[in-house]
Amino acid sequence: MIRIGMGYDLHRLVPDRPLILGGITIPFDKGEYGHSDGDVLLHAIADALLGAAGLGDIGAFFPPSDPQWKDADSRKLLAEIWQQVQVMGWVIENIDAVVALEKPKFLPWREAVRTSIADILGIAPDQIFVKAKTGEGCDAVGRGEAVAVWATCLLSRTD
Ligand code: MG
Repeated sequence: MIRIGMGYDLHRLVPDRPLILGGITIPFDKGEYGHSDGDVLLHAIADALLGAAGLGDIGAFFPPSDPQWKDADSRKLLAEIWQQVQVMGWVIENIDAVVALEKPKFLPWREAVRTSIADILGIAPDQIFVKAKTGEGCDAVGRGEAVAVWATCLLSRTD
């Protein structure tokens, strides 16, 4: 059996916060505002995995209203979610994602981000790909006010 999943997330970019994508901190003068560390890429991947498995969404697992997730390391949140999906017998075939970010350039960080995500999930870096797009100067992404991510995943299991 195979199941496809999709996740989306957006965080505002504000001063005095680190810009963290896929567990990698990228030097920049702004970062994601959020209750956790704001890692928008890992949040979208978590929702894709949960959606494919029919388990809910990241907000149900880690409610923003719960103080214990304040500034939480999203690598740990994703690992916890992947553990829940794995117990149902699912394996990851692949994950694909698009990061919409006006600045800074994402390309120099892509391989580090792929390796980081692969390490969190225990998969090979070639099972995860991340593309980047700008907002072409339009909307909140284009004005540099936000970063958004779309992620898909394909899960399989032998039944
Ligand atoms: Mg989020």
